[in-house]
Parts: sequence; C-alpha cells; structure tokens
Amino acid sequence: MPPQTTNYEIDFMTVGAGERSGDAIALRVWDNTGQQQVFVIDGGTKETGKLLVQHILTVYGTNVVNAVISTHPDGDHASGLTEVLENLDVKLLMMHQPWDHAADIKASFESDGLTHLGLQRKIKAELGYAHELKKIADRKKIPIVEPFEGGQWNGGLFRVLGPSQTYYESLLPQFRDMPETKEPLGLIPGLIKTATEKLEMVAEAFNIETLTDGNEHFSAENNTSTILLFNLGQDKVLFTGDADADALTLAADYAAGNGISLTDLKILQVPHHGSKQNVGPTILDRIKAPHAHISVSPGAAPKHPSKKVINALIRRGARVFTNNAGLSSPACYRSAGVPARPGYTDISAHPFYNEVEV
Ligand SMILES: [Zn+2]
Repeated sequence: MPPQTTNYEIDFMTVGAGERSGDAIALRVWDNTGQQQVFVIDGGTKETGKLLVQHILTVYGTNVVNAVISTHPDGDHASGLTEVLENLDVKLLMMHQPWDHAADIKASFESDGLTHLGLQRKIKAELGYAHELKKIADRKKIPIVEPFEGGQWNGGLFRVLGPSQTYYESLLPQFRDMPETKEPLGLIPGLIKTATEKLEMVAEAFNIETLTDGNEHFSAENNTSTILLFNLGQDKVLFTGDADADALTLAADYAAGNGISLTDLKILQVPHHGSKQNVGPTILDRIKAPHAHISVSPGAAPKHPSKKVINALIRRGARVFTNNAGLSSPACYRSAGVPARPGYTDISAHPFYNEVEV
C-alpha cells in the first residue's frame, strides 16, 4: 500500500501575453509521511519556463522534479520545458517520441518514397521542440517514457487516460508540415491585443445552450495531447492539454471501461485554452468538476476563452477560473489542509454571460 496523498497545490502559470496561450503547470503533493513530490505538466514558452524554474526553487523550496510531462509538441507547451530540464533535477520525462514510431507509420508515407531513416529525420526536424527535450534528457541521463493510455505512475498517483498508442499512430501522419514557422510566443508588446476586434454576439440563457457538438477544427498534434488523471487523495484532477472532443471521448470511454468516473472530478483543466472548437455538450456531460480552470493569456480575449464554453461549464455546476491575476502570479488551487500563500489573493470566478460569440 503506497503512502496516501494528503495535500496538494496546483499552480497554473500564465503563458504569453498576446492572442496565443500555452500551458505551464506545476504541482506538488504531500503524502501522509510529509514527503513532497513535484510534477510539471508542460512548460509554456522559454519565458514561462524560467518563471516555472524560479517558482519551484523558491515557492516549492526544492530543485527536484519527480516527473515532467510534455503533453504534446507545440512550442507554447513544450519549449519552456527545456528550462526545467536544464536547471532542475528531473527524475523522469514523459513525452511521446514520434521518431520512434516512424517504422509503424511509414506505410502512410509510402507515396513520398521516404526511407525509414529519411522519415525519422523529417519528424525530428519538424518537431524541433520535442526533439530538443529528448536531446537534453539524453545528455542529462533523464529516463524518457511515453505516456499512453493505461499507464500509471507513482503508485497510481496519476494515470494516463489517452491517447492510446493506436490513436497516436493514426494521428502522427497527419501532423502539419512546418511547425517551426509558428510565431514564437512571449512578451512581445506587438502581440498584445487592444480588444478592438468586434465579434458577432448571440443571446444565451441558463437553459439555452448554443455550444454544439462536432464543430472542432481538427488538429492532429493537439489530439495527441496526453490526458492525465491525478488521484490526489479524495480529489481527482483531470489535465487535458489541447485535446479536442474526439480525443477526450476516447479517454472518457477508457475511463468508463475501467470503472473510473470523470463526473466527480474536483478540478477540470478545460482543454485548449477554452476554445469552443474543442468541447461540446456531450463530452462536457462526461467530464465534470466544481472547479474548471482555463489556462489563458490575458491578451487572448475575446477568442479564448469562449464564453459559450464558460457558460456550458457553469451550467454543469462548475465555477470557472482563468489566469487573470497577471503574468508573474500563477492561479493556485490547494487542498483544504494547505494554508493560503502569503501575497496570494483569491481570483474571482467568471460570471454567466448573457451574450456569447456566435
Ligand atoms: Zn495550447
């Protein structure tokens, strides 16, 4: 019988200042012997990665990270993890290694006349952020494991609900060609929006839901996001990366098939910065929590988070929070036994919106 988790703190760092958001999450848990374990889920941009390192050193008071989880290879989630791997004592890196699946997916590329090695080179070049993590881990002798459905670590403290290896390999050939052309994120003043964008709005009421199923803008990379369930004593916390409804549905099916309820979560991390393209009413009926957190850059409004999504979560009993406390101040959730940190004030929940974007 492993020691029981008694208390925890979860910090959602604020990533970026412009229209695009990322994820950078630190959490620490204490077991009933008082032993602390630290985990990092995604690292945001390089700037956030540096903040994350400082946060762990000064607030958590340690340089040890028991496991780093890179949910998917997008730069706004993965690039800051280089800072964490370089500057802290990381015991385990969990990430998908697409280059190792080259042989399995080669058939999808037959028409390109690619050799196995050629395909491996292509994947490595195109997934630069992820490959950077692998290189650091190899140099620092940090073991790497791939988080696939069913995997459980640290005595069942966390469990991977998705993706399955089969689903992952079905997505890999659909990755876009040129991820390195993506805009670098960070504190670039020009990226800060002035909120002049005019959106067409439509009325909603508590009993009128305009959010619909099946409106997702498909992204193969986002759907490879590791979907993680932490079992923190009495509390279950679900982290979803940028997964959309297809990937979340498979994860919910896996959970249901294994007797795991996802309608009694304590905290739900809403996928993809609150985009209405990632969730619909059906999947939100299957993953419910009284606290829903949306990792979002202060400059991402009005695109992210979607007011339709916020309303849908409130309708299902959640209080909805975003990173609205500023760049250097993470949104912190703590179990009942953990005192508030000095200098931290409660962030306010979003109201129900009577007008939402069309
Ligand atoms: Zn994202």
